[in-house]
Amino acid sequence: MTEDIQEVFLDATSTDTDAVRKVAALSVQQPHELIQPHALVRKKSARGNAHQRLRIGIMGGTFDPIHNGHLVAASEVAWVYDLDEVIFVPTGRPIFKIDKNVTNAEDRYLMTVIATSSNPQFTVSRVDIDRPGATYTIDTLRDLREEYGPQAELFFITGADAVAEILKWKDAAKMFDLAHFVAVTRPGYSVDVSFLPRDKVDVLEIPALAISSTDVRRRAAMGEPVWYLVPDGVVQYIGKHGLYSEDQE
Ligand code: NAP
Repeated sequence: MTEDIQEVFLDATSTDTDAVRKVAALSVQQPHELIQPHALVRKKSARGNAHQRLRIGIMGGTFDPIHNGHLVAASEVAWVYDLDEVIFVPTGRPIFKIDKNVTNAEDRYLMTVIATSSNPQFTVSRVDIDRPGATYTIDTLRDLREEYGPQAELFFITGADAVAEILKWKDAAKMFDLAHFVAVTRPGYSVDVSFLPRDKVDVLEIPALAISSTDVRRRAAMGEPVWYLVPDGVVQYIGKHGLYSEDQE
C-alpha cells in the first residue's frame, strides 16, 4: 500500500477507531517484519517431522515431458532425506541443449504443474523459465536460496548423467556451498561421482527411472501409448496440444 492510498483510507475510516488502528498498524510494518509466506504454510515433512530449518528438495530438469519416473524419484528422495517440500524447476533454456529441439517452456511448465498437483509436498517454480538467458543451476540455487532464506537446507535433485558433468557447469564449486546434490540413476546404470566432493553428492537408484522422457517422446511420435508412463493429465495435454507428433518436428 503506498502512503497516498494509506492516507485516503485512514481519512475514510476515521470514525472507526479500531479500523484506523488496524490500518495504521499495517502501515508501519517493515518488510522484514512481514510474515513470510513459507512460514504460514509450514507443513510436516515426508516422514511427519517438523524441522526448525526447512529441508527443501529442488528437482531440476527439462521435463520434456515430466514422467512418472521423475515423480517417484522426487517422492523417494523426499522420504530418504526427510524433506519438507520438493520444488520442481523446469529449465528455461537448457545450456547444453541450445541447438536442440526442446519443447516450449510454457508447455513443459504446465505439464509439470498438472503432474504434481495432487501431491501437497510438491510445488513448481518458474524461476528458470522467467529468468532471461540460458539456464544455469548456480542461478537456480541463488534465486531459491533468496526466496527460502539462509537457514533452509537445499537438496538439488537431478539425473545422474547430468551430475556426472557437473564440473563443467558454471560456478561449479560455489554450487556445493549452496546445496547438497542427489544424483538419481536408472536401474543398472552406474555413474562415477568419486571425483566430486563426497559429503556433497549422493547417488540414489530409482527403479521407476526405467521410464525416460526420450522414450515417451519417441512413443508419442510413433502414435504408441504413453498411458501410465506419464500422469493421465499429461497424456491428455500431449494429445490436446499435439506435442511430439511427427508433424511438429
Ligand atoms: P538431461 O541432459 O536432459 O538429462 C540427463 C539425464 O538425467 C537423462 O537421462 C534425464 O532423463 C535425467 N534427468 C534429468 N533431470 C532429471 C530429474 N530431475 N530426475 C530424474 N532424472 C532426470 O538434463 P537436463 O534436464 O538438461 O538438466 C538437468 C538439470 O541440470 C537441470 O536443472 C539443468 O538446469 C541442470 N543443468 C545445469 C547446467 C549448468 O548449470 N551449466 C548444465 C546442465 C544441466 P529424462 O530425460 O527422462 O528426464
